[in-house]
Amino acid sequence: MATIQFKQCSKSFGDLQILKNINLEIASGEFLVLVGPSGCGKSTLLRTLAGLETLDGGDILAKGQSIAKREPQDRDIAMVFQNYALYPHMNVAENMGFALKLQKKSADEIKKRVNEIADLLQISHLLERKPKELSGGQRQRVALGRALARQTSIVLFDEPLSNLDAHLRSQMRVEIKRLHQNLKSTMIYVTHDQMEATTMGDRIAVLKDGSIEQVGTPSEIYHKPKNLFIASFIGSPE
Ligand code: ADP
Ligand code: MG
Repeated sequence: MATIQFKQCSKSFGDLQILKNINLEIASGEFLVLVGPSGCGKSTLLRTLAGLETLDGGDILAKGQSIAKREPQDRDIAMVFQNYALYPHMNVAENMGFALKLQKKSADEIKKRVNEIADLLQISHLLERKPKELSGGQRQRVALGRALARQTSIVLFDEPLSNLDAHLRSQMRVEIKRLHQNLKSTMIYVTHDQMEATTMGDRIAVLKDGSIEQVGTPSEIYHKPKNLFIASFIGSPE
């Protein structure tokens, strides 16, 4: 069952059309990786889904309902950014629980949820620390935790690992997949790293100049690329 449907979505900034009639369906519980060269519109596509940009044309449905005009907080979507900014004056637990507090959840409920997610991310020992007392990798875990604590059905990742070194990156790839299996949410993961795409995605969508060029399993994309662009983009090592 499709849980997210982009229908004829378009978006321009000034004279420049960034998204061109995007049609894309994502199944419930799927891990979809969105790849494409820098500037092709990946972040813009995620941001329209999250409600951080408005569409010029088309519609986005979630479980069959149009969400294109809903406020970001009413979309049941959390997003993890590349340049995650943690709240510097709050400790890790407070950072992770902040969105739940805004939702007026009880202190007990927040604590329980934060502990569960901290446990999954192996950051339980860091809950009392302030962001400045954490390493880069630990901060990125907290940023992940902060998004996941909200318990949304959909989680979006915009190149969340690109500031980490290669070792941490490969470790976090495995962790994020494990989280996906545990939480069963629908995840869309943007990267320009072919390795991440082929190892993490249930399916891969390849975006080029604001259009979806091909959608398929990693094996389909790898073995049956629709054109030379996809073959060279997915097939060539970095
Ligand atoms: P990607 O994430 O694939 O690198 P983006 O979606 O960030 O690409 O950007 C696609 C294009 O849209 C780029 O040319 C970028 O400069 C432009 N763009 C993105 N956001 C804005 C904005 N708010 N205003 C004007 N141009 C933008
Ligand atoms: Mg981007």
